[in-house]
Parts: sequence; structure tokens; C-alpha cells
Amino acid sequence: MPAEIDVAVIGAGVIGLAIAREIALAKEEVFVFEKNRTFGLETSSRNSEVIHAGIYYPEDSLKAKLCVEGRNLLYKLCDKHNIAHRKSGKIIVAADENETNWLEELYEQGRKNGVDDLALLSRMEVKRLEPNIEARAGLLSPSSGIFDSHNLLKFLYNQARERGVSFVFGTEVIGVERTGARYRVQIKDRDGMSNVVAQVILNCAGLNSDRIARLAGIDIAKAGYKLHYCKGEYFSLDSKYRNLVSRLIYPAPEQAGHGIHWRQALDGRVLLGPSAHYVDAIDYAVDETYKQYFCDSVKRFFPVLELEDLAPESAGIRPKLQGPGEDFRDFVIAHEEKAGFPGLINLIGIESPGLTAALAIARYVGGMMS
Ligand SMILES: Cc1cc2nc3c(=O)[nH]c(=O)nc-3n(C[C@H](O)[C@H](O)[C@H](O)COP(=O)(O)OP(=O)(O)OC[C@H]3O[C@@H](n4cnc5c(N)ncnc54)[C@H](O)[C@@H]3O)c2cc1C
Repeated sequence: MPAEIDVAVIGAGVIGLAIAREIALAKEEVFVFEKNRTFGLETSSRNSEVIHAGIYYPEDSLKAKLCVEGRNLLYKLCDKHNIAHRKSGKIIVAADENETNWLEELYEQGRKNGVDDLALLSRMEVKRLEPNIEARAGLLSPSSGIFDSHNLLKFLYNQARERGVSFVFGTEVIGVERTGARYRVQIKDRDGMSNVVAQVILNCAGLNSDRIARLAGIDIAKAGYKLHYCKGEYFSLDSKYRNLVSRLIYPAPEQAGHGIHWRQALDGRVLLGPSAHYVDAIDYAVDETYKQYFCDSVKRFFPVLELEDLAPESAGIRPKLQGPGEDFRDFVIAHEEKAGFPGLINLIGIESPGLTAALAIARYVGGMMS
């Protein structure tokens, strides 16, 4: 590795990969530092693989704008490069009058965000589309879908490499220090510690992105960058539930997530989740005591579900800026020039819909750098 490089990207999740691929043609030496042995082993491979339409987020938020743009880019890229996907559509279901009123609000919110194909459904219309689903009313989102996120990660990695990006795996960034107009990046690998000087730092470190910002000298409490970990677990269903429901089915959202949804994955398995509960540490074990809660949640729209048909599947952890009981927080995608750190771009709180928005986030960051 040279002693001086143009750009250091910290983290090879979907965000670091998409950005590295995006900027590779414009920048000379782009290096991606990843502490794990390869790309995409953290949040980017522990999620629902849902292509979100962009309904839930406040108008003009980065989440809304980048989700709508990213979803269109993602469908095009999947089509062009044969990345498996299915525009299955999704129905958000209401179980009572309160939730029905809320669906109407959501419909308006989605339209404000540019999701122009939504349709409110009566109980009978839900039944006609999904005979096995019980709901008082529904909101249909035809442009929601699912895709093979592992193949997207592989594609982004391969194309970034073809465009000249260097990947340094098994290498953790442990220090970022401003030296004049550049940054000294301290890295640790199995041979020990060393330094590289970079002109630009792109902090795409997911669950660690607040720590990287702090290492660089940002006061993360003052900046509002402190992350909270919010765990999401999944359970799978017995194979007898396959092909009973063709769309994604979402309930009314919880405070920190979109609620326990029903998804038939591309391989045919039916998966329920994710839950949303704040945790102090990163631990991907699935807590079986949530089984009853999963079953009860899903029985509200799929009454014949039986508890013994649920099996623990996997878990992921959301890097949330919004703490328990707090209001909506948007993605932080910030060039820290004004804070005294020219060339440092922080991406913090890239939770859902980060996977959907990744290609749009990459464009956005590319634009900030040009
Ligand atoms: C339960 C759950 C469900 C979700 N479902 C969806 C969904 O259906 N649709 C959707 O659009 N989004 C979804 N998301 C959100 C989506 O998964 C994330 O927004 C996205 O994966 C974030 O990617 P990332 O690259 O920022 O983070 P990551 O994938 O976590 O990548 C960050 C990388 O940085 C590396 N790193 C960290 N610190 C260092 C360091 N010091 N040095 C070197 N490397 C470092 C890590 O090892 C990691 O590889 C979901 C998230 C969760 C948790």
C-alpha cells in the first residue's frame, strides 16, 4: 500500500462498496479498509432484503428522497445485471379503526414522498388479493419488492475492483488524525499497526460510525451522532406456509421498526420479522423467548399461524440515531468542513432503508466530493 492515498473508505458494507464503486472513476487511489475478512458480513447481510418504496419517512428527508431514488436505481441495476429480485408488492394491513386511519395518513405521506402508485384497499379488496390475510383495510404498494442482497454486494465489490478500487481486508481503522489538509489513518492488522495518509475519509463504518467520527475529533454528543443499537430478530416458518401469501405483508409499525412482517424469500422460505428492541452490545443470537410475541403479532393478520411452526432464524442490529422513545432521525450524510474537518464525510445512522437507498447514497456522496 502506498504511504499516501486519495480516498480512504472505512467499511465494506453495502454503503462503502456502493460509494467506492461510484467514485472510483473520478479518484485516483481509493482504498477500502474493512476489519472483517471480507465485505458485507455485518448489517448488510443481516436484514430483510426488502426494496422499500419510500412511504414511511417525512417528506424531504434524506431517507425519503434517497429511498425513492435508490429503489429505482436498484431495480434497474438488478434487471441489467441479473441480480435476482421480485417486485412482489406489499400490503400494509390495519387490524382496527385506529390503524385504518393511520393507513390513510401513510397513503398521504407516501404520495408526498413521490410514491405515486399506492392504493387504499377495503377488507374485501385485501381478501381478493391475498385470500389468506385478514385485515380491516390495507395499503397496497406495488413497487415494494425483495432481492438478493448478497449478489448485490458481490456485484458492487467486483465492479469497484474492476474500476481500480483496492480492498484491504482484516484491517481495522483505530485512529484518524488531522495533519494539515490531510488525515493520518492508523490501521491495525494481524502484522501490527501502521499508518496511511489520505486526502479524503469516507466513514461508512455502520455500527461503529459514531466511534470513527469521535476518533477523528468530532464531539459526537454535541453533533447528535451517538448511535443506539436496535436489534431485529427473524423467525422462519414451517414449509407448509409456503405460497399461501404472494406479497409482503406489513402491520402497523412499532416505535423503532416497521413491525413484524411476512416475507416469502426468493428461495421460497417464509420469514417473519424483524423485531425491534434496543440492546447495549452486538450479539446476533436469536432470543427464543420472543417466539410467542412473533406468533401473536402475525396472528393479527394471519390467524391460523401455530406457535410450534416458528423456528429461530437470524438477527441484525440497526445503527439508530433515534434512541428509545425519541422522534424520527434522518440519515447523517455530512461533509464536516464546517466543523473543521475538510475532506471528512460521515455517514451515520444508515439504518433502513439503507440497503434500498445505497446506490442513491453513493451518488449523493459522489456529488458532495465533486
Ligand atoms: C434487522 C434489519 C433489517 C433491515 N432491513 C432492511 C430492508 O429490508 N431494506 C433496506 O433497505 N434496509 C434494511 N436494513 C438496513 C440496511 O441493512 C442497512 O442500512 C445497510 O446494510 C447499512 O450498510 P452499511 O454499509 O452502512 O453497514 P454495514 O453493513 O454494517 O457495514 C459497515 C462495515 O464497516 C466495517 N467497520 C466498522 N468499523 C470499522 C473499522 N474501525 N475499521 C474497518 N472496518 C470497520 C464493518 O466491519 C462493516 O463491514 C435493515 C437493517 C436491519 C438491522
